[in-house]
Amino acid sequence: MAISSIEQLFTLFNETAQILQEELDCSFLEALSETGENIFQDTILQEELSEITEKRLKKQYESLQLDLFSKEEIRKAFQLVTLKGMKENIQPNHQMTPDSVGMLVAYLVEKFMEPQSFRLLDPAVGTGNLLMTVLNHLQRDVMGIGVDIDDLLIKLAYVNANLQEQPVQLFNQDSLEPLFIDPVDAVIADLPVGYYPNDLRAADYQLKAEKGHSYAHHLFIEQSVRHTKSGGYLFLIVPNGLFESEQAGALHEFIKEKLIIQGLLQLPSNMFKNKQAAKSILILQKQGAEIKPPKQVLLVNLPSLSNRQEMDKMMIKLNQWMKENKG
Ligand code: SAM
Repeated sequence: MAISSIEQLFTLFNETAQILQEELDCSFLEALSETGENIFQDTILQEELSEITEKRLKKQYESLQLDLFSKEEIRKAFQLVTLKGMKENIQPNHQMTPDSVGMLVAYLVEKFMEPQSFRLLDPAVGTGNLLMTVLNHLQRDVMGIGVDIDDLLIKLAYVNANLQEQPVQLFNQDSLEPLFIDPVDAVIADLPVGYYPNDLRAADYQLKAEKGHSYAHHLFIEQSVRHTKSGGYLFLIVPNGLFESEQAGALHEFIKEKLIIQGLLQLPSNMFKNKQAAKSILILQKQGAEIKPPKQVLLVNLPSLSNRQEMDKMMIKLNQWMKENKG
């Protein structure tokens, strides 16, 4: 992948977003979604711009030939500009899923999913970075579906999907409210972690807390399972302490009743600021007729992802496990 292409695109997204931010007096991320939409629609959609601003934008847009860039180049450039915008306004539970994690999830989806064509749901789609990373890495016919409560983030996901020409349906709503989405073949999600404030809605879930607020990440697991076909897979980025909290008992019960644990891959600790923030990728399968549990759950402590040698060893272990359990 050409670094200079990513740089060139980054500069264009960044500079045109800055121009729009100043003129529209909005946040950088709002301006980024506006410029992305302009590029996709091949026009300038904002009516309130001065003539000179319009000219400056037009000149930049005309210098761009988007079809010369690969989907991954576009995603990476868009990711870097989004990260820049997120630094302006840090919200810990809204962070984009990093590339390295997205690529691992893509690798796992590729390994576990057999059909050539399937539907993939991300109920916490955010900016769409995780979903696009997975879609861009799968050489299959995959229809993506994303849901997020945050209207700005989902707008960025929409721009992301459009610029990369990925078929994605997006819903801007609370994912724990009823979803009008037919059961999917697979779910991926970097789950929001913490308490869910809506106790009334939580009351509809088996995984509601007995007292006080429920854990959003538990309710997200239950909601994801409701929207997965029997035998479908879930690839969830979860906190390492998932099975150790005071509400973990109910989660264990729920998993025993409805799911099969296929694997738990602990992400390297150097990816996180502290132990509390550390995460794992949990691989689940929804129970169904003829669905058998693996002989052994795939348990991996991932090495630092930049450690090539250790990563290669891990891939060999994973391939061996696949052969013994899925082959
Ligand atoms: N994978 C995403 C990406 O690459 O940008 C990042 C996911 S981020 C860790 C968690 C997301 O969950 C945030 O975008 C947040 O807005 C969303 N979220 C939190 N609570 C939600 C809810 N009740 N319904 C829908 N989305 C929610």
